[in-house]
Amino acid sequence: MTKPRVRFAPSPTGYLHIGGVRTALFNWLWARKTGGAFILRIEDTDQERSTEASRQIILDSLGWLGIDWDEGPGKGGAHGPYTQMERLPIYAAHAERLIASGHAFRCFCTKAELDAQREVLKKKDPKAQFVYPGTCRSRSDRPDGPFVVRFNSPTEGSVTYVDKVFGEVVTPNSAQQDFVLLRSDGVPLYNFGAVVDDMTMGITLVARGRDHMVNTPPQIMLYGAFGAPVPEFAHLPMMLAPNGEKLSKRHGAVSVTEYRDQGYSPVAVLNYLARFGWSFGDKEVFSKEELISSFGWENCGRGDGKFDAKKFLAIDFEHLKSDALTTEDAYVARVRPFLAKNGVDASDDAKLKQAIRTIRGRARTYIEAAEMLDFYFREPPKVDEAAAAKFLVAASAPILSGFGAALRAGDAWDEKAVEERTNAWLAAAAIPIKDLGQPARVALTGKTASPGLWEVLAVLGRDASLARIDAAHARALGAGA
Ligand code: GLU
Repeated sequence: MTKPRVRFAPSPTGYLHIGGVRTALFNWLWARKTGGAFILRIEDTDQERSTEASRQIILDSLGWLGIDWDEGPGKGGAHGPYTQMERLPIYAAHAERLIASGHAFRCFCTKAELDAQREVLKKKDPKAQFVYPGTCRSRSDRPDGPFVVRFNSPTEGSVTYVDKVFGEVVTPNSAQQDFVLLRSDGVPLYNFGAVVDDMTMGITLVARGRDHMVNTPPQIMLYGAFGAPVPEFAHLPMMLAPNGEKLSKRHGAVSVTEYRDQGYSPVAVLNYLARFGWSFGDKEVFSKEELISSFGWENCGRGDGKFDAKKFLAIDFEHLKSDALTTEDAYVARVRPFLAKNGVDASDDAKLKQAIRTIRGRARTYIEAAEMLDFYFREPPKVDEAAAAKFLVAASAPILSGFGAALRAGDAWDEKAVEERTNAWLAAAAIPIKDLGQPARVALTGKTASPGLWEVLAVLGRDASLARIDAAHARALGAGA
């Protein structure tokens, strides 16, 4: 079997929608699973809406997700260029081929003429759908002036293909008309551009959202006209909003960059999106490698799915919790920019890793992780004033000074050593641990909810711990009775 060649062909007209990423992901998984090639092609023929910024967002988003391409922008390849507006001569040559073989023709009808015909029809029957009447189909002259190239569409028979997800699809040709391939300025319309590109790039399987199913029959006709092999097709169910509408900005975050900025793990994003229209038994949580090895079209469903932000967050949490899914090094690399953004220098790798171990069971995103880690690295720590007012009071002063003295009484400084010294002092002084707990927590972390005391002491180290306890003691003394 020849290795599959699949592609993702986004239009750079805005942010990269997570529905688009799901399409990219399924193609990419298939290429990686089969040892095939994943091609990225930029479909920028909508000149009014395409922007360089959007193109960059697409490249950056895919880069962040780890969806790498074998051929495409920045990578090159044997079938380039990979941006449609750089391929205009290729479309012109292919249009000429179809004209020469009688599968296409030049149409000189002006927009005004076609609009007038449309108006006449509308007056007769307001509901009727205007169909290009084939005016220039068999004209033999070639007047001066602009023309478009139209496909000589069959109107009888039907197009049949077997979709890898939806099974056999039969579409009668009666609904077709002589659709435009090339505009008068030489820019291709979507169906023509996509077919010429998929054909010349050797694409063997086209996987995309089922909203494109309407385009598949005319595309198959074009392959036939070129005498080219027809690729396989796999159409994917839609990603809908919880209320059943098309998922858009109105329903919350839908762009990849928003999830990146909200501190999601890129693999968690892939994991959540993979489960949209694809399943593997009851399994919900997948590593990237598991996604690649388990993916297959046979497990793709046909039913549209509803976006579930809570489930998405839960999947992210699973990825952040598990060091099998997110290695400590990956965690460090991902969380550090969020700490830096908060003005925190966490350049000490060993300390950061130790600190992460104390919070990773609770942080659902890297933003939450950065908040939970903040006190370890900020000197002095941010203080929750309400907590300080409640716990750093005169009654706590002797407890905090006893605590500091107990900790100073030995050199060893790890979880076990600080716990033993503290417990020995508490027992000797007959102080219940609950009297120490909250004042010590507020002293060391600035807040009342934190990882365990011994862990905190161990990560902060001797000097920082003692300095914070002393500062809290001073504040408690100053608080008066
Ligand atoms: N540029 C098209 C889109 O973004 C690509 C469709 C296709 O995959 O053929 O919807």
